[in-house]
Parts: sequence; structure tokens; C-alpha cells
Amino acid sequence: MTRVIVIGAGISGLRVADLLTAAHIDVLLLESRQRTGGRLHTVSGPTGPVDLGATWFWPHEGRVLSLIDELGLPIHNQHLAGDAVYQDAQRTRRLDGNPIDVPAGRFSLGAQDLAHRLAQRLAPGCLATDRPVLAVSARTDGLRVETGAGALEAEHVVLALPPALAVSRIRFDPALPATLVDLARRTPTWMGSMAKVVAVFDSAFWRDHGLSGAAISHVGPMRELHDMSGPAGRPAALFGFAPLPTADSVAPEPDAIVRQLSALFGPSTPEPVELYIADWRSEPDTSPPDTGVAGDYRTYGHPAWRTAALDGRLHWSATETSSTSPGHIEGALERAETVAARIIDDLNRRNAA
Ligand SMILES: Cc1cc2nc3c(=O)[nH]c(=O)nc-3n(C[C@H](O)[C@H](O)[C@H](O)COP(=O)(O)OP(=O)(O)OC[C@H]3O[C@@H](n4cnc5c(N)ncnc54)[C@H](O)[C@@H]3O)c2cc1C
Repeated sequence: MTRVIVIGAGISGLRVADLLTAAHIDVLLLESRQRTGGRLHTVSGPTGPVDLGATWFWPHEGRVLSLIDELGLPIHNQHLAGDAVYQDAQRTRRLDGNPIDVPAGRFSLGAQDLAHRLAQRLAPGCLATDRPVLAVSARTDGLRVETGAGALEAEHVVLALPPALAVSRIRFDPALPATLVDLARRTPTWMGSMAKVVAVFDSAFWRDHGLSGAAISHVGPMRELHDMSGPAGRPAALFGFAPLPTADSVAPEPDAIVRQLSALFGPSTPEPVELYIADWRSEPDTSPPDTGVAGDYRTYGHPAWRTAALDGRLHWSATETSSTSPGHIEGALERAETVAARIIDDLNRRNAA
């Protein structure tokens, strides 16, 4: 029997495993994808790292900042200088200054760097990727976790994946209380009904025209755009959010993106040298099939997420369960710290008894 099994190697699950490892507690982290990081996802483009998931952290986020410091991660500031652009059905106009962006930090090697570095310091053998969890059932002295590759047992299990995904994808025996299942179903997966579009260029041409790269559009397909260039403007990139609100929404086509970029940044806008359209709604490891349909953001940080289910052994730690920074990396870390502390406490009490 492993003492703790953590389901999901996104930043929350990785941090739980990291803290338990530091406390010398035997932990196994099971991840359905072939990579760690979850919604922190950085790809290596020809000109540098490109974030298809999370982009920023903010100056008040103490947990993110102290991990960056501890791990020695390279960071840079979000580019803010220049004018923003506003687009509605009538026209596109340049604003005076940039009222859209706020001061934020960026991970210079991409946000997934944070996940990679935590994964690297786990004990050998305690992380298994390509291992989707199918079921969790109660035993007299613990919980049994079924994966496609066999069953395992643990004293505590942590659900480090979005609650709506957990109840749609994992069978629980005994069944979780109906009110809890209903709460989980109504809890939208943060950014789970969004496409993130990243356009990489030879140079940050918009900066040469005094533009910040920030834009708001009521036309779409991208509704909000920002500069996403690396340090010193390399790689030179813009990113935009294209909402996919309903189950039959489809991610925008490259042609529509290129047309909108020209409308926003001028007819001399060059063709992107790389174009990424990350459709998070279609990611089965992030969004359940009906994601966001009955979404209610008031469920974020609900007190029910702070109560361990199945006799105090099944814990919730994904960002959606945070009451302080739900949706953000900071919230995922906050829950990881709380859940790890609770498990350490419980195991210490049992050891002492
Ligand atoms: C496009 C986008 C932009 C964002 N921008 C920002 C930003 O700028 N700043 C910010 O702070 N946050 C941002 N976020 C949110 C941030 O990425 C999340 O808050 C954070 O990554 C959530 O971490 P998590 O560990 O709670 O969940 P996840 O990262 O979703 O991790 C859950 C893990 O569980 C795994 N899993 C799923 N099902 C199973 C199963 N059955 N068995 C085993 N494993 C399973 C998944 O593969 C995944 O690795 C953004 C997210 C997206 C998608």
C-alpha cells in the first residue's frame, strides 16, 4: 500500500507530491497524459518557447513568487508599453495608452517550466504518466485506485483535477453524495471552454508602430489579445482568447485569425511564421464533454471542497477548489499546500496512535 496517491500531475498535484516527498511520505502521482503540467503547457517553437496554457503570474501571488525564487526560474515582465486597440462591429480604433494590460510576470522558459522543475525533484519512480485513473473505491483501511494498468491502494487519495472532470471520468464506490456530485458538475473548468491562439512573427512589428499588442474585440474570433513575446521581444508573439461557449462551438480557422490580426494591427500586418490554436474544450484531460454548459462560478472555493470525502480520505486540490485565487496557478498551489498539510497531520496522528 502507498500512503498517498495523487490523481493528476498538473501544478496542484505536483506540488502536493513535492510537499509530501519533502515530509518523507510515500506518494504516487498518476497522470493520464504523457506529460506533466496539465493546463501549464509550453511547446518549443523554432524561435523559442510558446505557452498554449497559462501565461502570467501577478505581483501579489506569494506562493508562485516564492517557488520561482526557490527553483531559480528565469522570469521577465509582461510588455505593457504602447497603445491598445478596440474593435466593435462599427470600426477598429486605437486607444490612447493601454488600459487593458496590468503589470504581470512571465516565465521566460514558458509556464510549464514550473511543472517540469517540480517533477524533476520528485523521488524516482513516484510519477507515472499515461496512467488515467478510472475508479476509486473504499476499503476498510484505505482507498483502492483503479487504472488501466491495474489497481493500487492508499491511505489518502488527492483529486488534483478539475472537479467536473473528476465526477465525469472517475467511478466512485460508494457513490459520492448527490449534492457533491451536483456541485462538481456545475463547477466550470477554468479556461475549459476557451481556445488560446498564439501568432508568432519574425519581429514584434506592433511595438514599432507604438502599439502594445493589447486589444479588446466585440467582433472576434479573438475577444482579448495581448503581447506574449519572450524576453527582449524573442520570440515575437501575440496571443488571443477565442471563447468556445457551447458544446458545438468550434475553434477559429487560421484564415479568420489572420484577417482579424490585420483588422486590429493594420493592413501591413505580416503573416505569422507560426500559428497555434489550442482548443482546451476538446482536451479530454481538461474538460468534460458538457463543460461550462451549466457553469456556475460561485461554486469556486465552495466549503464542500475543504471537506475530505470517503471517510476523510479523498481530498480535492485543483485550482477550482481554491477560495483565495480560484482559476490561477496561485490557487492550485494554495490548495496543494492545504491538502498536503492535512494529510501530513492525519498520517502523523495515526503513526502516534
Ligand atoms: C489557456 C489558459 C490560460 C490560462 N492563463 C493563466 C494565467 O495567465 N495565469 C494563471 O495563474 N492561470 C492561468 N490559467 C489557469 C492555470 O493554468 C490553472 O489554474 C492551473 O494550471 C491548474 O492546475 P491544476 O493542477 O489545478 O489543474 P490541471 O492543470 O488541469 O491538472 C489536472 C491534471 O490531471 C490530469 N488528469 C485528468 N484526468 C485524469 C485521470 N482520470 N487520471 C489521472 N490524471 C488525470 C490532467 O491531464 C492534468 O495534468 C490558464 C489556463 C488556460 C487553459
